[in-house]
Amino acid sequence: MRFVDEYRDAESIKRVLQQIDEITTGDWNIMEICGGQTHAFLRYGIDELLPDNITLLHGPGCPVCVTPLEKIDKAIFLASQKNIIFCSFGDMMRVPGSHEDLLTVKARGGDVRIVYSPMDALTIARQHPDKEVVFFAIGFETTAPAHAMVVLKAKTEFAKNRANFSLLCSQVLVPPAIMAILDAPTNRVNGFLAAGHVCSVMGYHEYIPIAEQYKIPIVVTGFEPLDLLLGLFACVSQLEKGQFNVENSYPRSVTLRGNIPAQETMKKVFHIVDRQWRGIGVIPRSGLALQDEFAEFDAEKKFDLHDISVQEPRDCISGLILQGVKKPGDCPHFGVACTPEHPKGATMVSSEGACAAYYQYKK
Ligand code: SF4
Repeated sequence: MRFVDEYRDAESIKRVLQQIDEITTGDWNIMEICGGQTHAFLRYGIDELLPDNITLLHGPGCPVCVTPLEKIDKAIFLASQKNIIFCSFGDMMRVPGSHEDLLTVKARGGDVRIVYSPMDALTIARQHPDKEVVFFAIGFETTAPAHAMVVLKAKTEFAKNRANFSLLCSQVLVPPAIMAILDAPTNRVNGFLAAGHVCSVMGYHEYIPIAEQYKIPIVVTGFEPLDLLLGLFACVSQLEKGQFNVENSYPRSVTLRGNIPAQETMKKVFHIVDRQWRGIGVIPRSGLALQDEFAEFDAEKKFDLHDISVQEPRDCISGLILQGVKKPGDCPHFGVACTPEHPKGATMVSSEGACAAYYQYKK
């Protein structure tokens, strides 16, 4: 298959591995931002083929993992209401809230539905005018344009009638998270592999001032084995030469400015706010919230949810894992009290979670 087979070619992979081996002299901690990249590294065993002095750290780019507990509890509260149909992507269903998860609510009789697109949730709202339909809008810059589009469509459709459709929003942004990691006293990241899909929407111009300010290389990287190795090679090359540039190793999908119409759609609907990240805390200007013009579609305002406030469990270290400070194997609960069947934290549940990747490929 074009754009897949050639990026899984064994000979090409061996060649780039050898090149990485030849140029590496220093000890480098390189963080892949995206959980999809974490899973690909482990699935293909690339982490074990790298020189010993390259350490991969796993970043916060898993939307399910960083959705705060407070927001999960709000989702569970809404999903438990008799007049609400709660729609979510499937990977949120087993993410533990303070006391239970959405799947448990569904098993109790709550009307919780898995959808594949926010437009599916709007269709359900059309089909059930007597019910309130809430869509759990989580994700990074990759999902934000589609979520913005559904709000614009709903605004048109409900121009004359009261809207029975709303979003529980937990949209987050990558560049502020990178800066938060670099600002932390515990930071040990020497270089970043930026997430190719986020950059296909946003471009990579936002990373240029970050690389300059923190003197750190940032390489836009794809998701196939060869993509990951080419990204690593570019990052290690810069580190060995003392350079700190933004480099695009995923040019078949990413341009400097990204998808301008998608960005404009996001700007029409959302504005930037401070956002809580699960296990990490509040990162300034790292989230998107609906603009006042679209307040009728904001589930938190509509159902007056602002009073729900909870504490993250102390014994899950996923926040430290998402910042590259710890690895899943450092957690005493890994594979013992915490498994995909009985998860304590979101990083063990999500298909992009680091703990889930280690459990699946390394345990
Ligand atoms: S293994 Fe479980 S408890 Fe430990 S950090 Fe991962 S999700 Fe949290």
